[in-house]
Amino acid sequence: MTESTSADSPGKQHHPQPDEKHAHSHPRHTAQELRAEAVEALLIEKGLITADAVDAVLAQHNERVGPLNGARVVARAWSDPGFKAALLDDGTAAIEGFGFEGGQVEKLVVVENTDDIHNVVVCTLCSCYPWAVLGLPPRWYKDPAYRSRIVREPRQVLDEMGLALPQRVAIRVWDSSAEVRYMVLPQMPVAAAGKPENDLAQLVTRDSMIGVEVIHGT
Ligand code: FE
Repeated sequence: MTESTSADSPGKQHHPQPDEKHAHSHPRHTAQELRAEAVEALLIEKGLITADAVDAVLAQHNERVGPLNGARVVARAWSDPGFKAALLDDGTAAIEGFGFEGGQVEKLVVVENTDDIHNVVVCTLCSCYPWAVLGLPPRWYKDPAYRSRIVREPRQVLDEMGLALPQRVAIRVWDSSAEVRYMVLPQMPVAAAGKPENDLAQLVTRDSMIGVEVIHGT
């Protein structure tokens, strides 16, 4: 892993930003998105699915699954050392009791941020993501620039996304796959200690569980 600037760096002009507006000139839809739209249109035309069914899946992940599930897991880990140990040991087994729908967590590995180690998640190959705990991946997560650059120059990319980590903090990048999905256990802000679990959950952001953000004190 290097942090040098490479000449072929494709992301320099359009590095990923959370929810950035794409004001520049690359196509609005990725090839993957166009393909998904084409497949959806064809399946609807053939009468195999309905647009309503597709919308229902999207709504399920945006509204009912969503990153709130992950936030509840994090809040529990912050409140309950036994649960935290179990979560870090076997994420899939530890979250079973929550009964989340949404899937993609057959092997969930939870990695813990500490004072010395910061974890960040990517899928370099495509966009593997733990849907049941984080909902649908943000657009930038699927951006080829994020997927390639976060591995090569994580400190630089995180800095560009608004997270400037001290040099003493080591960065670990976890590459998701169809087999293993990662989630970051962010550090609890010191000021939040002792708060009820429900209040803690409200502090936890999606981006902090991907590892491109840390949670600041309140
Ligand atoms: Fe993937």
